[in-house]
Amino acid sequence: MVSLPPAPDLAALLEDLRVLTELESPSTDPAAIARVMDVAEAWALELGGTVQHLSGGTRRFAFGETGAARPLLLLAHADTVWPHGTLRAMPWRVEGDRAYGPGTYDMKAGLVGAFHALRTLAGGWPRGGVVLLLTPDEETGSASSREHIEAAARESRAALVLEPPVADTHALKVGRKGVGDLHLHFRGVASHAGNKPEEGASAITEAAHAVLAVQALARPELGTTVSVGRIAGGGAINVIPAECSLDADVRVATLAEADRVMAALEGLEPRDPRVTLTVTGGLNRPPFERGPGTQVLFEQAQAAARELGFEVTGEVVGGGSDGNFTAPLCPTLDGLGAPGDGAHAAHEHVRLDRWPAHVQLLTRLMQGL
Ligand SMILES: [Zn+2]
Repeated sequence: MVSLPPAPDLAALLEDLRVLTELESPSTDPAAIARVMDVAEAWALELGGTVQHLSGGTRRFAFGETGAARPLLLLAHADTVWPHGTLRAMPWRVEGDRAYGPGTYDMKAGLVGAFHALRTLAGGWPRGGVVLLLTPDEETGSASSREHIEAAARESRAALVLEPPVADTHALKVGRKGVGDLHLHFRGVASHAGNKPEEGASAITEAAHAVLAVQALARPELGTTVSVGRIAGGGAINVIPAECSLDADVRVATLAEADRVMAALEGLEPRDPRVTLTVTGGLNRPPFERGPGTQVLFEQAQAAARELGFEVTGEVVGGGSDGNFTAPLCPTLDGLGAPGDGAHAAHEHVRLDRWPAHVQLLTRLMQGL
């Protein structure tokens, strides 16, 4: 039995968080994001880690990787939603038991806490070692990092995501909905609406039938919502319209539901055989399902928290994270960053009375896996 990890030094946590917070890193500025990553890289090298710079600006840090077993994956992003200059209005500051500043809660404190956990583990790495993937574009949908995240998830035995717990709670994130955009384009045949209507095939008429058919795919009781949010078509009103398009927002709680919705859309056939339908788009982030692998990780986290003297709960949330990409590929638990509140908001902060305990929780969880 490994003894309980020591409480990390709050002053040291705060100093590291100040350094990262004062390096503004909007998703739009790769050079600024690289400065945050350079700090993390120095920390990784001090710990004897290896560093790889991957395409698109993602960095991969590995600790105690032996190849004898699959590593544990830690997932963090270095970008924030805050533009340059935010620090002037929202400076780094500690007031009472809260530390404020842009990107503190989402998720620079998660990255800082992970390094403090790694320092506690140093040398006694979990079987297979630990890989920390630090990405530059989570806040804008992870276009450049998705392939690296998925590759890392495939080679790992579990993914621990360093996004914060649910706002103002000790709740870890055990599931997230998948989000997609779907585009339906109808192409018919134009004709004079007065002289030769029978020679035309209306794309708008077909789209009108499809609006109701597409929305009927919603299954709110299963967490599936479908909304046609935009429709565009036609031109001159005396022409039978040859073009019409529909754009729909789709959210699903399970991959089975995503598959059902996509199959139904691909099976849609225009009533008039002269009209063709093209369906494009799909899920931007797949659903992160609360599967058995996540449940096992959550129960281990719950037991670790109890050993440390506090309770964590598990919640399924609507918004996505990079955990949506790992969850279909390996057991995933999210919300292992720093407690606080105000993601993407002016009062963004980390709770200093709770943060050290969550760093201990992450450390303990890694020890036990
Ligand atoms: Zn985040």
